[in-house]
Amino acid sequence: MNSAPAPAKTDNINLLNFDRKGLESFFVEMGEKTFRATQVLKWIHQAGISEISLMSNLSKSLRQQLEETCSIVAPEIVHEQIATDGTRKWVLQMSCGNRVETIFIPERGRGTLCVSSQVGCSLACPFCSTAQQGFNRNLSVAEIIGQLYVAQKQLGDQAKVTNVVMMGMGEPLLNFNNVVAAMNLMMDDFAYGLSKRRVTLSTSGVVPAIYRLSEACDVSLAISLHAANDTLRDQLVPINKKYPLKELLEACLHYVESAPRRHITFEYVMLAGINDSDADARGLIKLLKNIPAKINLIPFNPFPGSEYQCSTASILERFKDIINRSGIVVTVRKTRGEDIDAACGQLVGKVADKSRRSQKIQKMREEYAAS
Ligand code: SAH
Repeated sequence: MNSAPAPAKTDNINLLNFDRKGLESFFVEMGEKTFRATQVLKWIHQAGISEISLMSNLSKSLRQQLEETCSIVAPEIVHEQIATDGTRKWVLQMSCGNRVETIFIPERGRGTLCVSSQVGCSLACPFCSTAQQGFNRNLSVAEIIGQLYVAQKQLGDQAKVTNVVMMGMGEPLLNFNNVVAAMNLMMDDFAYGLSKRRVTLSTSGVVPAIYRLSEACDVSLAISLHAANDTLRDQLVPINKKYPLKELLEACLHYVESAPRRHITFEYVMLAGINDSDADARGLIKLLKNIPAKINLIPFNPFPGSEYQCSTASILERFKDIINRSGIVVTVRKTRGEDIDAACGQLVGKVADKSRRSQKIQKMREEYAAS
């Protein structure tokens, strides 16, 4: 007997969009018990199951009911690169054709996943390749947690994601609710069970959202500082014009004090001749002397069209020594995945090649060729 094709599911609910609280409310609304939420979370996030029919501890009728209205739709990997050092970079296709990237960095005893929060970014930091693409949209919870979901699936038994850093494309605090829900899932024992020390949110300094974060979600905080005075930071991290250093550091102090968090990490990209002098190092020490701080120096990762250069190895070492002598803990981020353009935004830029800057460069080339 030929049955008519099933009607296309409209308004399908993507179960990847729910954190535990959301899923509990969803089941309560269905007239189910809240423990269904933990059962389903475990199937999705721990077993990596995307077919509701396989969730064998749910009654058949509940499975049927869920199948009619829900699905589990994760982003799709459209491009994978594996560097010689084991770093993996995935370009993920989101709905509406948007693409973001997720990077897995294996190290001895741990595996760090660098997760994106937005398609593009609105903040226009001139040394960042994502900024050159402009802002497109916020990612949904499913698209954020989906990066961890597909990464763990893709890695299989070969490696485990033990740490997450919200340091991919976008400004996570400008997509607050979705990022918080996704981070809740990362730390939920019924989902990924990562400890709060192993989930880090990096922000350019959206001050009001730092206060909100201290109420909403207990994760490690990293601040993209990059300059120790307002004049330079206004240029390098333009959101500084709205939330200058004094306000940013007050918010950081509040964040540290509002829970027994140990320190805040301050990221500092090393740009030759821009922010890497001895005076800059001393300014940094002075600025951070009253905050439980760690400084992470990031060698600038150049990208096509970038106008900056990375500080030389000797300047970087000298800068680090000056800070070290002050007693502030300072580390230098290891450059990983160099053979696969592992700086955030670069691979998507290459694959999609839609960046305004690259279009600009192309236009200039054409004009040059025609002249
Ligand atoms: N919007 C968030 C997450 C951005 S990416 C934030 O600003 O914190 C994480 C870090 O990489 C940030 O400190 C960012 O400033 C830095 N970064 C961006 N482009 C870089 C580049 N080309 N080289 C080195 N670090 C870069």
